[in-house]
Amino acid sequence: MQTINRLASLRDNLVKLRQSGATLALVPTMGALHAGHMELVKRAKECADKVAVSIFVNPAQFGVGEDLDAYPRSLEKDSAMLRAANVDILWAPPPSEIYPANFGTRVQVIGPSEGHCGAARPGHFDGVALVVAKLFNQIKPTHAIFGEKDFQQLAVIRQLVRDLDFDVKIVAVPIMRDPDGLALSSRNAYLSPADRRAAAALPAALDKAVKSIRSGDDAAATLAAAEAQIMAAGFTRVDYVSLVDAENLQILTALDDRPARILAAAKIGKTRLIDNLAV
Ligand code: AMP
Repeated sequence: MQTINRLASLRDNLVKLRQSGATLALVPTMGALHAGHMELVKRAKECADKVAVSIFVNPAQFGVGEDLDAYPRSLEKDSAMLRAANVDILWAPPPSEIYPANFGTRVQVIGPSEGHCGAARPGHFDGVALVVAKLFNQIKPTHAIFGEKDFQQLAVIRQLVRDLDFDVKIVAVPIMRDPDGLALSSRNAYLSPADRRAAAALPAALDKAVKSIRSGDDAAATLAAAEAQIMAAGFTRVDYVSLVDAENLQILTALDDRPARILAAAKIGKTRLIDNLAV
């Protein structure tokens, strides 16, 4: 595995790779890697001849007062995991390589960025779209692999690719969970043992809500019950529990023949967790 920190060096390496005619899958991450990320790497290897993983804690997608400085960083351990998984390129640039002095461009994806996490974290998806657009331009992957864990992010990126004609195939990977159902997340490292136990109430509430809505129960009452269940488990705030059209993430007031998804975000202790399930 080649670890690259400079754009000029990345470009040199990619020229050689492209001349060989190899396909290249990119897995964008913020590091603090866990089995969920490694599932994306596995999928990347199935999709393409070569795999690049980026590790960049992107300041542009953190709001004021969010956890940019505290975000877990473990580059050495991550690097060992990626090497063991036979990743070809690790792109781990410093912030100055992504956002040099006088950087002035913004990217805003109207539609899927709005509502849900977009409402709770203003500007977050603009930051995501910006860094993903830059990563696509820097690496020019044939495939890019994203987790359904960040379901709204996936919708934002699909629209970004459509709107800006990026020649990349977006591949989605289902959520990897711990045995008690909690979605794996780098932010789970923040949880105290008691909060970690209580956090399993989030996927449990969504699972119950999915079954209830499928059985014909009223959506609004079901979502309110899920919210109450999450709060009763010890969460301190529920940002949203929503039933949405899985394609455009518009709110659904009742199930119809469109694929639907329940999306949720809630805070436990100081940690904000997100989750989602297909209905
Ligand atoms: P992050 O490092 O949190 O920005 O995540 C990098 C990528 O890994 C994103 O595409 C996430 O959706 C994906 N990811 C994170 N956690 C999981 C998980 N538990 N299961 C599947 N994909 C995940």
